[in-house]
Amino acid sequence: MNRRNFLNKSYLGLSTMLVAPETITSLGNKSISSISKNSETYAISTWSVPEANMKAGRALEGGFSAIEAVVKGVAYEESNLLNTTVGKGGAPDRDGVVSLDACVMNHTGDCGAVLAVENITHVAALAKEVMEKTPHVILAGKGARQFAIKQGYKPENLLTEKSKKAWEKWLKNGNYQPEINVENHDTIGMICCDNSGNLSGACTTSGLAYKMSGRVGDSPIIGSGLYIDNNVGGAVATGLGEEVIKTVGSFLIVELMRGGLSPQKACEEAVNRILEKQKGKPNFQVAYLATNKNGEVGAFSIQKGFSYTFYKNKLNKNIPSNSIYK
Ligand code: ASP
Repeated sequence: MNRRNFLNKSYLGLSTMLVAPETITSLGNKSISSISKNSETYAISTWSVPEANMKAGRALEGGFSAIEAVVKGVAYEESNLLNTTVGKGGAPDRDGVVSLDACVMNHTGDCGAVLAVENITHVAALAKEVMEKTPHVILAGKGARQFAIKQGYKPENLLTEKSKKAWEKWLKNGNYQPEINVENHDTIGMICCDNSGNLSGACTTSGLAYKMSGRVGDSPIIGSGLYIDNNVGGAVATGLGEEVIKTVGSFLIVELMRGGLSPQKACEEAVNRILEKQKGKPNFQVAYLATNKNGEVGAFSIQKGFSYTFYKNKLNKNIPSNSIYK
């Protein structure tokens, strides 16, 4: 059996569980009305980010709303210079420029995003300001930077000596290959549930290391890197953004959960949608993390090595995700 057949076979069961769109709507309405609010607070984040996730979890315990908690949580990694995939210290593009992407979405379905922003560290907070203070959803590039400065953000040099050295080393070959599970895949997607049972999420990244200038991935794209529907659940993505965008991954997961799938099964099905388009074994990583209104959590990835951080009842755990390839 070749690999393609194997994948088709192993996922046949899952795909046939999918129901027609009309059924999804009626099932969805039923499941929404029967959902009881989960008022136990929790925070989940892609990858091993104990400090960021704990910060969010504690903010929730302190009574902060989910949207405030996600922004506080991811801010930790945005200013963590050791994290070369988010915020200050993030890897630059091919021209040596660090440009950041982020988005947020709250329990009312409101959202904000900033794309390709230079010199501003806390881009998730900035995306929240776009949501709250402008009539728009997305601000990009120069406009986003100008808006940040008007809001009182201090422009900073985001390229650290370490990232600069790594880029200079990369320039010697300039060979652009998305690598699996190394430092160019580490976006933080975070979802929080607050004590009113409301869900919000944030996604923040410096994008793929040594991307083309102007390249924007899935992370700041509502529906791709992040999606929240407070009646159903939420999902976040990390990995090769181009593949997530092509399948509108996070929105897909929420819609699959609306149709009755668990967060786990919905993440598996969304990964499968990507694999269906691939010939042979993909050499890239995509990983999803999702939660529903019952507080269930699921995660799944193409390649091994993905994990997520889960804070609940004062316990912060790093949980390995299952994957297609072991
Ligand atoms: N999803 C991000 C992007 O494509 C990369 C990542 O997750 O590290 O920009």
